[in-house]
Amino acid sequence: MSTDSASNEQLRVETRLVGAGRSDPRVVSAPVYHVSTVLFRDYDELRAREATARSGRELYYGRMGTPTTQALEDAVCALDGAVGAVLTPSGVASITDILSAFLVPGDELLMVDSVYGPTRNFCIGPLAARGVTTTFYDPMVGAGIESLFTPNTRLVFLESPGSGSFEVQDVPAITAAARRHCLLTAIDNTWATPLLFNPLDFGVDLAMQSGTKYLNGHADCLFGVTTTRDPELLKKLRLYTLGTGSHLAPDDAMLGLRGMRSLSARLPVHDRSAREVATWLERQPRLRRLLHPAWPSCPGHEFFQRDFKGATGLFGMILEVGDEAGLARFVDALDLFGIGFSWGGFESLCLPMSPKRAVRSLDLAEDEALLRLHIGLEHTGDLIADLEQALQAI
Ligand SMILES: *Cc1c(COP(=O)(O)O)cnc(C)c1O
Repeated sequence: MSTDSASNEQLRVETRLVGAGRSDPRVVSAPVYHVSTVLFRDYDELRAREATARSGRELYYGRMGTPTTQALEDAVCALDGAVGAVLTPSGVASITDILSAFLVPGDELLMVDSVYGPTRNFCIGPLAARGVTTTFYDPMVGAGIESLFTPNTRLVFLESPGSGSFEVQDVPAITAAARRHCLLTAIDNTWATPLLFNPLDFGVDLAMQSGTKYLNGHADCLFGVTTTRDPELLKKLRLYTLGTGSHLAPDDAMLGLRGMRSLSARLPVHDRSAREVATWLERQPRLRRLLHPAWPSCPGHEFFQRDFKGATGLFGMILEVGDEAGLARFVDALDLFGIGFSWGGFESLCLPMSPKRAVRSLDLAEDEALLRLHIGLEHTGDLIADLEQALQAI
């Protein structure tokens, strides 16, 4: 299989994911280039390659890209039809690079209020110190976003579903409004991956994902990636990221690429199992509310049904725990669910959201707690039995 056939738009995405980024037709997996210094044959080659060095598409210096990172970029582009991808060492780095590359002092950023915590912290911290103001908007604002635009508004940032609270945004309504006013849009699409929701098809200019989650899928590396269909935006973001000195290390690029090969096989299992567990949870007396985009109780469920091809394994629940000690008894009684950050790996996780990090749109009663579950690839019968005994322990 040649690289060309792997990136062929005629092929279905599952097929493209298997072959995308194969630069050496003799081996199935991308060779891992551990490279800082690149050697040039002669003076003329050194000068000639200077011209294309910043594209990251030719070996010039290790920090600027290798065939290993190029293979991962190509695989991500095969997934969402982008013209190019910019890799970073973490999802947070992709977010902060977008916000830093496209906003200058005096600009105003419209940031969704249900955004991932570290993104919020970057806005109210370093970005504010640089003279960029952030206005947080209601995730359910839809076309009403237009009334928030000011002469200084430059960029609208979306995250759908919202972190912790899972509101699904009306992405096409927001991107249409932004386009009418020549504003840039960017999205954190980590939850769905482009396999289930492709932001570039819905008019978003810059789509980032934490590859740490489902793309890698094995909880053994961190990376972030941003894609676009606009060559000018790609060039500007790549220059910015190169300028900060960040790059993705070769072994992590290989792990990301290896994870992506099985993405289309893993996601349906996460989806099916999460729905099974959520359906069971819904019948438990202690469950006060399910926060799963596929359930009508989730704000924006209609946009999930309209725009998404499926769900993944991460959802929230509000449990009646009595008090913090009850919450602790539930969490500590869990045996199969690990307690930990991140998600998207093969394993199930449970994260009690601390009251301090409480999601702004959710008003919790005194006896309630918000927890986030990631449903991994274990058998759902075992997971449900684990949850059942933990609920009893409360
Ligand atoms: C985990 C996560 C990130 C950050 O990714 P890292 O790779 O851990 O930096 C960003 N956005 C969302 C929605 C996430 O869940």
